[in-house]
Amino acid sequence: MAIDLSTTSRIAAWLASSQQAVVFTGAGMSTESGIPDFRSPGGIWSKYRTVYFDEFMASAEARHEYWRQKCEGHRDFADAEPNDGHKVAARWEAQGRIRGIITQNIDGLHQLAGSQRVLELHGTARAVACLDCGARYDVEPLVEQFLETDQVPSCRECEGGRLKHATVSFGQSLPVDVIQNAMDWSQTADLMFAIGSSLVVTPAADLPRIAKQSGGRLVIINRDATPLDGIADEVINASIGETLAAIDRCLE
Ligand code: ZN
Repeated sequence: MAIDLSTTSRIAAWLASSQQAVVFTGAGMSTESGIPDFRSPGGIWSKYRTVYFDEFMASAEARHEYWRQKCEGHRDFADAEPNDGHKVAARWEAQGRIRGIITQNIDGLHQLAGSQRVLELHGTARAVACLDCGARYDVEPLVEQFLETDQVPSCRECEGGRLKHATVSFGQSLPVDVIQNAMDWSQTADLMFAIGSSLVVTPAADLPRIAKQSGGRLVIINRDATPLDGIADEVINASIGETLAAIDRCLE
């Protein structure tokens, strides 16, 4: 679908006059970098059995299954690079046009593109955290260790603590401080872009609604329709990278 210039220039004008704009992103942001949407049919979640958080904590077998799945899917995202959409969002932050980014993604591509203020609602797969002492590690050496030895790595700091990717697993609570900041950003946003999210998974999907109800404008950019399209000020069903680049050109 062609992107209408009058629409992008209207959105650019909103962005140019906003004081507290926020970008909210979901899986669609990263599919243009080649990262599969795990929830889609044929995605990783339909192929593997789910390892729930309680099970991970309780069972060495579950921890092994978790690490096997994570390591198998690792290269898909580890080799991915930020796309035009990530780059535009990073530029807007550097230019002071947006307060920051709230993301459902765990791939770290916003930071790779240069974004500094990123609230990761579901954590990050670029780090591993010890669930017993809180120590954090780079993911790469531990993935290599698992692939070479088929042994689940354990924490060196507390000698044996359970290590898991620093993501929010099924059955695990979202990080309270991150959610609190995301709610605050949403309540005070005068413009929110909801990008590449189906806006069906709560509480993340509530954030654009909160922004709108608090008086901000809402712009939705997504491949498919969302439940919030009816309250949005603009809805664009087109490529995210191309749409953000088109809005960015109107700012110049
Ligand atoms: Zn530890």
